[in-house]
Amino acid sequence: MSTAHQKPITFRLPILGENTGEPTGAEIDIDAELRKLDGEAAAASSARIDTNHWYDQMVDPQFRASQRGTTTLLVSGLTAAHDYLVKGALSGLGYKVEVIDMPDNEALRYGKEFGNRGQCNPTYFTVGNLVKFLTERAQREQRTPAEIVDSYVFLTAGACGPCRFGMYATEYRKALRDAGFDGFRVMLFQQKGGLKQATGEEAGLAMNPGFFMGILKAIIAGDVINGMGYRLRPFEVEAGATDAVIEQTKKYVYDALVEGRSVLAALLRGRRAFAKIALDWTRPAPRVSIIGEFWAMTTEGDGNYHLQRFLESEGAECDIQFVTNWLLFMLWEGRYDTKLRAELRGIDDARKGLKNVNIGKKLAGLFVADLAIRAAFHTFGAAIGYRGYHLPDMDEIAETAHKYYDNNVRGGEGHMEVGKFILNVLHNKAHMTLSVKPFGCMPSSGVSDGVQSLITGIYPQSIFCAIETSGDGKVNVQSRVQMFLFKARLAAQKEYQELLGKLGVSAESVNAFFAANPRYASGLHRAPHAAAGTAADRLTQVAPLLGRSPAEVRLIEAKMAARKAVAAVRGLPAALGKLRKKIANRSPALFAQAREEWIEAKPILTAKLKQAARARGEALGIVPAARPSAAPQDQATV
Ligand code: SF4
Repeated sequence: MSTAHQKPITFRLPILGENTGEPTGAEIDIDAELRKLDGEAAAASSARIDTNHWYDQMVDPQFRASQRGTTTLLVSGLTAAHDYLVKGALSGLGYKVEVIDMPDNEALRYGKEFGNRGQCNPTYFTVGNLVKFLTERAQREQRTPAEIVDSYVFLTAGACGPCRFGMYATEYRKALRDAGFDGFRVMLFQQKGGLKQATGEEAGLAMNPGFFMGILKAIIAGDVINGMGYRLRPFEVEAGATDAVIEQTKKYVYDALVEGRSVLAALLRGRRAFAKIALDWTRPAPRVSIIGEFWAMTTEGDGNYHLQRFLESEGAECDIQFVTNWLLFMLWEGRYDTKLRAELRGIDDARKGLKNVNIGKKLAGLFVADLAIRAAFHTFGAAIGYRGYHLPDMDEIAETAHKYYDNNVRGGEGHMEVGKFILNVLHNKAHMTLSVKPFGCMPSSGVSDGVQSLITGIYPQSIFCAIETSGDGKVNVQSRVQMFLFKARLAAQKEYQELLGKLGVSAESVNAFFAANPRYASGLHRAPHAAAGTAADRLTQVAPLLGRSPAEVRLIEAKMAARKAVAAVRGLPAALGKLRKKIANRSPALFAQAREEWIEAKPILTAKLKQAARARGEALGIVPAARPSAAPQDQATV
């Protein structure tokens, strides 16, 4: 309603002690205020709304083949061994490569300064680490940001989410822009092709089979080298002996990757050095299985308060998760999702949809990739002496976890944390399970704080410790770990002492046996799984051999080997049946496809076989020669 024709109504709020009732001239003209607001609202409602979406200017980073000689690829993000070996693999392919050091608290500070608010802790650490590196490099070498942008490319992994992992690349770009490195090239392993079509020039990073094979070799070699370190360090007699061999072996493998020589031969060379490390297998070290968010449990620096080294300094043996396990999980995701969506393939035309995709071939490909990765891991493991490690059965983990955490819920480690914890308890794999949950991580918090509480209630015998990594609070986290480790240490000692009593042997006799039979004390030897602790495993294996002469030991070994062989032969049909079931279960579409193709191929193949048999019979004179068929001429006449 317009009030323009009326006398303005003025009004002044009463003030205590000044309420004289007389106008002062400072009253507000309410009508004028309302008109002003009306005008502003009308202007806002009729303003043109910018519907252009924001997009990332750097989303198509340009790294051309002609820039290879002047551009350094930066790698970082895994363990020290992995980063170093990835550098070796890429150097071997002709790239200039540099490793950025493990993220520290200073990197976290950079991440918090230049990153978005509310990121998860690994994002701050990793993004900040790159900004820190570039800033320090620019300062140290007195170079401008533009020169730095021209000289480096950062290579990293990316994903489409659903957690913040999907935003890493964008987060890197945002922080780099705000830190003054606008236009810095962040490249994902997944990016390929495009550049050549866009610019007519070859892409700088040739993501061909050689590239991926090199990275894969570096990752698996890094895994088995790390595995040897965590397996032997807690039992070494001379502190630092294992680390010295690890450094040596890393160098052998690095050189092999750079020079294009055999990685297996390099690992075999390292194996000889590992075999010489003196070890004390009578220490009942508590075995701690480290699970949780991938980066937080993998990093070896301030990002998890140097967790692995801290546990070892407290006398524990770390059971770590390998990067290979993560690769297997991704393949499992591919198989699982393909099977779920197979029924929809006619209408599934999304970017990664299954329309016009041969499901059988896709599943077969994933299945073969899984087998190939496992085979490569065990081959590298056998070369370095890392025996007796069972790569996780991803189907078993998924089935075990499913009741408590749906397999379709993704992000972070998905159901893996739950499945691994339950299997640790059921198979007595460790004395304690330690879950690392980064601050601000939605998937991992839901699991560690929510689901795992239920699991500990179901398995009260388990020792489960969840920690949150935020960059600060190191003392609190370590003291929490110490509390749980105290229980784990008692459990390990109890297990060992009870075993000594049960087997009727003494610690001295075990020591004497190892001294007389260095084969059993070697770091390359692995006793079969019998208990949660490694020392207890060895004790169980050697107890029947104590006090025997070398000839008797050999006889017992031969008998045991024969018994094992007989059991293996007897169990072969059952094992094959299990394998068949597993394969059928893993890829029903593959089997259906094979059946369909067999139905089509069978008559053709049978006809060809008959034809070949007849020809052979005729040649030998066993079968009378076939009558010549009617001439084409005759047929034409007819
Ligand atoms: S799993 Fe958690 S910590 Fe890791 S990237 Fe996703 S949100 Fe961040």
